[in-house]
Amino acid sequence: MVDDTFVLGVDLDGVCADYTAAFRAIVASERGVDPETLGDQVSWSFSEWGISAEEFDALHRCAVLEHRMFRTMPAMEGAADALWRLSDAGVWIRIITHRLYVNWGHAVAVTDTVAWLDQHGIPYRDLCFLGRKPEVEADVYVDDGPHNVESLRSHGAEVIVFDQPYNRGLDGPRAHEWADVEELVSTLAAARGLWFQGQLPGLQDPSRRVDHRVRSGR
Ligand SMILES: [Mg+2]
Repeated sequence: MVDDTFVLGVDLDGVCADYTAAFRAIVASERGVDPETLGDQVSWSFSEWGISAEEFDALHRCAVLEHRMFRTMPAMEGAADALWRLSDAGVWIRIITHRLYVNWGHAVAVTDTVAWLDQHGIPYRDLCFLGRKPEVEADVYVDDGPHNVESLRSHGAEVIVFDQPYNRGLDGPRAHEWADVEELVSTLAAARGLWFQGQLPGLQDPSRRVDHRVRSGR
């Protein structure tokens, strides 16, 4: 912790944004099948959907560039509200995404990501687009990717695993939903001395606050 700032590093895909739901719809549409027929995603690689590594790269590219997935994908339930409450309580929200791990489509990935964050009212103070290197600083991270969690932990970082079928082999702390993230982060921040004030009841829907400010000209 630098000064009294407590930084929460927040991953996007599989944590704030429902990559699996979006990708399922796109794979089904490309194959001309019902999305339900694809079944649950169990592995990180989507091999249970009959997708090879080469096919994944092609489908991911099609999803990002043609379907504009990063602009249209659904948000995870409760993410924006929980992040607003943490932000209001003094937590510094640092979005950290590896969406530029490919060497194409960076302009689309960045612009669609920013539009999506606005559209879903997700608050942040920094937005970090990373390639492969995990070099950002945060007091605690929330991530779903087994390789990211392991890499961060191997560098001594505190990581909350956002529960997904493909990360069940990892040790906790584990969040099954955003309320769990909020509770775990609040506890960690308080333990490190951040003065923590919950949101006052009866205020407007926190995730819509930016809209409200825009509409009221503030
Ligand atoms: Mg992820």
